[in-house]
Amino acid sequence: MEKLLLATHNRHKAEEIKNLLVASEYQIRTLSDFPHLPEVVEDEPTLERNALKKARAAYEVTNILSLADDTGLECYYLELQPGVYSARYAGKNATYEDNNKKLLWALKAVPFRRRSARFRTVIAIVGKGIEEVLEGRVEGDILEAPRGTNGFGYDPLFVPRGRKKTYAEMTLEEKNQISHRAMALKKAVEILKTIR
Ligand code: IMP
Repeated sequence: MEKLLLATHNRHKAEEIKNLLVASEYQIRTLSDFPHLPEVVEDEPTLERNALKKARAAYEVTNILSLADDTGLECYYLELQPGVYSARYAGKNATYEDNNKKLLWALKAVPFRRRSARFRTVIAIVGKGIEEVLEGRVEGDILEAPRGTNGFGYDPLFVPRGRKKTYAEMTLEEKNQISHRAMALKKAVEILKTIR
């Protein structure tokens, strides 16, 4: 069975990705299986470049087909911010709660019809002679107060368009059926099938 390295330290993300790749023919590894790998600084100006940087770094050291993702919440009223800065929107060591508070502050008094946003996940797959970049996106709206306790990050504030629940009110299974990362991963799975 061929190996696939998920170049992420984020436990929640690894879990989501593993669930989605369950049916694929890959033996999944994560960065936890390679504690010696140097930390990659995500300092690129776009999601695409960060994802590529992480996947390239993982492949170069391990020689294992590597998949990395980078995700951002892009709010139209804020000209697509926080975007690539989503993890550190409220500062370098910001918690999810800090970031959510900052986002609510930035959208304070902004009416619902102007609170639209999209989650965008970019995935890079890097292997021998392979460099693929693809994306998944989900449009939605930012609430005025958090709802729900599941998931992570901005999940309690984001309601996908046409739905009633926030991502944080959905089970992992529900979120995985419609999420930005799921959309991107479906495309990734198609590419992975052609690589094997
Ligand atoms: P990353 O660079 O892909 O780890 O994502 C950057 C930041 O975006 C994370 O720290 C989270 O705050 C946020 N984020 C990424 N994916 C999700 C998601 O599925 N739901 C909510 N927030 C997310």
